[in-house]
Amino acid sequence: MAGTGLFAEILDGEHVYKYYADGEWKKSTSGKSVAIINPTTRKTQYKVQACSQQEVNKVMDLAKTAQKLWAKTPLWKRAELLHKAAAILKEHKAPIAECLVKEIAKPAKDSVTEVVRSGDLVSYTAEEGVRILGEGKFLVSDSFPGNERTKYCLTSKIPLGVVLAIPPFNYPVNLAVSKIAPALIAGNSIVLKPPTQGAVSALHMVHCFHLAGFPKGLINCVTGKGSEIGDFLTMHPGVNCISFTGGDTGIAISKKAGMIPLQMELGGKDACIVLEDADLDLVAANIIKGGFSYSGQRCTAVKVVLVMESVADSLVKKVKAKVAKLTVGPPEDDCDITPVVSESSANYIEGLVKDAKEKGATFCQEYKREGNLIWPLLLDNVRPDMRIAWEEPFGPVLPVLRINSVEEGIHHCNASNFGLQGCVFTKDINKAMLISDAMETGTVQINSAPARGPDHFPFQGIKDSGIGSQGITNSINMMTKVKTTVINLPTPSYTMG
Ligand code: NAP
Repeated sequence: MAGTGLFAEILDGEHVYKYYADGEWKKSTSGKSVAIINPTTRKTQYKVQACSQQEVNKVMDLAKTAQKLWAKTPLWKRAELLHKAAAILKEHKAPIAECLVKEIAKPAKDSVTEVVRSGDLVSYTAEEGVRILGEGKFLVSDSFPGNERTKYCLTSKIPLGVVLAIPPFNYPVNLAVSKIAPALIAGNSIVLKPPTQGAVSALHMVHCFHLAGFPKGLINCVTGKGSEIGDFLTMHPGVNCISFTGGDTGIAISKKAGMIPLQMELGGKDACIVLEDADLDLVAANIIKGGFSYSGQRCTAVKVVLVMESVADSLVKKVKAKVAKLTVGPPEDDCDITPVVSESSANYIEGLVKDAKEKGATFCQEYKREGNLIWPLLLDNVRPDMRIAWEEPFGPVLPVLRINSVEEGIHHCNASNFGLQGCVFTKDINKAMLISDAMETGTVQINSAPARGPDHFPFQGIKDSGIGSQGITNSINMMTKVKTTVINLPTPSYTMG
């Protein structure tokens, strides 16, 4: 159970979870806590420490000192500790999954999957890091015009220092380790600021790293509301890199952060373009999986369907039949559709639904909401003047826009301020490639719904969807800097020459 047994030391008495610094679980001197509301019961489920600015300052100092020693730790040893943490994480998937269910209403099975996937990600990162960080480059000077071979240039990858990791609520464990593991294998230290909804899951995950025996001060986790300590963290002079996943907050952070590398994975409005020759059963199955998994609260959820008018009736009929089969209820029962993360999120979704209603969208189901639980809803005949055609509902509501040409679909996709992923369904691979090239998104899936995984694939958004690229290899590289050493020879020297 969460907060018991091995995890008892992370809890202060019966109520408030501690924060993690200097290899220890601590109570904040602020004397304040932040409540985490269970989206299903809408009651306080857990509390976490509201860390103070002084505590953040202390953590930054600790992380800086610990990083210097960690950078001198052999790569194989760093990998060994990561493998150990991964094993502990997977062993304790049950209590962590329990927190995910209670904090973010993720269906029970998906919660377990998130923890297991996270363990696998940590192990893969350890292996990949050993490979790619174990190699450098050797260049000779005479390949550039006018030079003799008098210079040997050696390049290697060095750590950046302190990496600030800020994940979002929807994958508070997976999107935390996708930052922590690359940072650590590359020789950086970590300051994690978990999302408030999801903080307790993240604290349990951090305890698994603690149990693996990482050096003190290397991994730190400060809790508190992003709106209160966020700016202080992201503008802190002790931070050498920010890896952030979330919504528009990331755009504001990018404008305020100093001259440091940024990895920003932000929102999306992933379009699903359906051509006349598409296998409509395959499309319908992917729209259900892509649009309604975790109640649509995924960055790569299908967020708008752009279907050719000639096949629209048939597709809508198939999707409607599948929507009717989705189970709706509490995450503990492993229902397909569970309450959305907060009341404000539910209100926002409702606003989009009302706007679509007023402007004449066709409701394939009746709109129904109880508390934070919103029944799955397919909106047909959505037009570009409706907010839902452009905004990210982050809920189980999916708009369908009927198009009369492929160009119209591409135009809608590219007119969005987002550019995360998109997908196209057709049996004609040549057309699919042309459409993929024309779509201004970081990734295009052909004949499948958008998806972030597998976690070693490059993952990136363009426009307001992000800066840089994630995926295990890209994240390791992003969290390093190239260092070169040049050996200058007194006379030209050619190997075997
Ligand atoms: P969010 O509101 O932007 O929050 C993300 C994180 O930022 C949370 O940890 C939050 O902490 C923190 N935060 C809030 N204000 C901050 C500030 N001023 N400075 C620093 N940090 C601050 O996003 P969310 O609601 O958790 O997640 C949903 C969004 O994430 C959606 O837009 C979704 O598309 C996007 N997302 C993108 C990806 C991707 O890879 N592209 C993946 C998943 C989700 P608190 O919780 O304490 O406020």
